[in-house]
Amino acid sequence: MSCFISKYADELVKNAAYIGTPGKGILAADESTGTIGKRLSSINVENVEENRRALRELLFTAPGALQYLSGVILFEETLYQKTASGKPFVDVLKEGGVLPGIKVDKGTVELNGTKGETFTQGLDGLAQRCQKYYEAGARFAKWRAVLKIGPNEPSELAIQENANGLAMYAAICQQCGLVPIVEPEILVDGPHDIKKCADVTERVLAACYKSLNDHHVMLEGTLLKPNMVTPGSDSPKVAPEVIAEYTVRALQRTVPAAVPAIVFLSGGQSEEEATLNLNAMNKLQTKKPWSLSFSFGRALQQSTLKAWAGKEENLKKAQDALLVRCKANSEATLGTYKGDANLGEGAAESLHVKDYKY
Ligand code: 13P
Repeated sequence: MSCFISKYADELVKNAAYIGTPGKGILAADESTGTIGKRLSSINVENVEENRRALRELLFTAPGALQYLSGVILFEETLYQKTASGKPFVDVLKEGGVLPGIKVDKGTVELNGTKGETFTQGLDGLAQRCQKYYEAGARFAKWRAVLKIGPNEPSELAIQENANGLAMYAAICQQCGLVPIVEPEILVDGPHDIKKCADVTERVLAACYKSLNDHHVMLEGTLLKPNMVTPGSDSPKVAPEVIAEYTVRALQRTVPAAVPAIVFLSGGQSEEEATLNLNAMNKLQTKKPWSLSFSFGRALQQSTLKAWAGKEENLKKAQDALLVRCKANSEATLGTYKGDANLGEGAAESLHVKDYKY
């Protein structure tokens, strides 16, 4: 870390702190073309550019929603798209006080000799891409590394390779002016209990921060996007207070105080579950040197998608549904959510998909 030099240092620190502003969080709308296709097909909408654009316009122009957001993560195609009336999405977000972000990883490939463990691709040409995205208005980036829990997983190989990949990505982003979101997602798939998830989360995060330090990444200009510590998907559920306690303890043990904010992924939890868990963490009276917020994809968009169903006449209903979730999650970052959001269709529905690809 002592060797960190980037002309963007001050800007990185400022933008990372801004994204972590209490009361605000991130909308992850960076589904790749393949992934958004699955969402659209669930509401019988064809996966063509105009429909992808229309969905994103609905999200970014929802009246009142941007006040609860500090960042939106985009897929490359979306970074260059405009509203139907011709305004670039990047300008819509900036005028709403929201920083545009960009997914820069290129998905995962299997690690040789493992039981389906993976490594994330996208380091080749990454600096050139980041420079281009910065010029287009992006100010932060996301790279998703995926780990899984099994009888012998995650292997030491998977932990080390993914930690190094995240650190190399983070170093390149910072040289190009983008705040890196470091995302080591441990999948919820499996029959393990919450203790096992806590153990693995601590092991993975410790390795990530060792690598980030080895690669001279300036932690003040980064964000962490982890999974919450929960029981596996084939295990009985536990209360939000239990999840909060295990999650915050795992973070206290592994995430340096220099990191300004931790923005959770929702990982297949229902919209309401993800909000209640985040709220419980922010209610917890304990040491928390970072802010705890959200960077939800599925848990911010599900009821909106259902309400929209691809029909122009449902636009208002769909935008209202997004506003409900954004406001509830904003309250959850302050620990003041009362569980009183007007639940839309699908808000309580599990969004878990085995081996989820983003
Ligand atoms: P979910 O909140 O749907 O898990 O996704 C967030 C994300 O951006 C994963 O990379």
